[in-house]
Amino acid sequence: KRLILIGPPGSGKGTQSPIIKDEFCLCHLATGDMLRAAVAAKTPLGIKAKEAMDKGELVSDDLVVGIIDEAMKKPSCQKGFILDGFPRTVVQAQKLDEMLEKQGVKVDKVLNFAIDDAILEERITGRWVHPSSGRTYHTKFAPPKVPGADDVTGEPLIQRKDDTAAVLKSRLEAFHRQTEPVIDYYSKKSIVAQLPAEKPPKQVTAEVQKVLS
Ligand code: ADP
Ligand code: ADP
Ligand code: ADP
Repeated sequence: KRLILIGPPGSGKGTQSPIIKDEFCLCHLATGDMLRAAVAAKTPLGIKAKEAMDKGELVSDDLVVGIIDEAMKKPSCQKGFILDGFPRTVVQAQKLDEMLEKQGVKVDKVLNFAIDDAILEERITGRWVHPSSGRTYHTKFAPPKVPGADDVTGEPLIQRKDDTAAVLKSRLEAFHRQTEPVIDYYSKKSIVAQLPAEKPPKQVTAEVQKVLS
């Protein structure tokens, strides 16, 4: 399967991704995780991306299309993939279509994590991340077994620098202005499925499984 997850920050894309990935043996490409790794490693890409990310604005299309183009060449992505956080602009969606066309394949389904903005601040400000794996926890909704530590490795959890109420505001603006048109783009191809992203994680998972079965 070739899947795209679209939803505002905090809508649950990163939480559902590993479950879908394991069930269908897909590769999981999260542009946000890849960009944060580049920022942390201070690579030329990371240095270019950092300012926009800190402000909650989108990184330029050329940069993210470049990393996706590179990542999709991995052998593990040939049988199928989950794109988490990409495409976020119509230009990115068009570039993705061009890439896939060359391989003679296309996107099967776009999962739209539909949720009201009002719920997102609590989700974002309570989010804790295990940086090396991207696993997420929440102080209230998904607490780790040992506070502040990853359940699998026991390593410390961090809060993302952009997970503040102020930066969330610009991330949401970017979502409505630049990413919602991407949903329309795929709606015209009749491949969008709506998910009730405001429901508890298990119910969202059940809905994902229904859509993909
Ligand atoms: P969230 O999971 O909270 O929606 P991400 O981790 O996907 O956020 O993205 C974090 C930041 O990385 C974004 O605010 C943006 O600056 C940058 N980013 C990630 N993916 C893209 C993309 N496809 N296009 C442009 N910028 C991106
Ligand atoms: P995204 O990748 O879309 O930015 P995440 O999956 O990281 O979103 O979820 C944001 C925060 O909300 C995390 O702390 C996560 O544990 C929590 N969360 C995810 N899904 C739900 C849900 N259905 N109900 C309540 N909290 C959730
Ligand atoms: P700073 O700008 O404070 O020097 P970095 O540039 O190292 O911090 O990283 C930017 C932010 O992203 C930091 O809050 C860091 O902890 C966080 N971060 C780095 N890698 C990841 C990752 N893979 N997942 C989530 N957050 C990460």
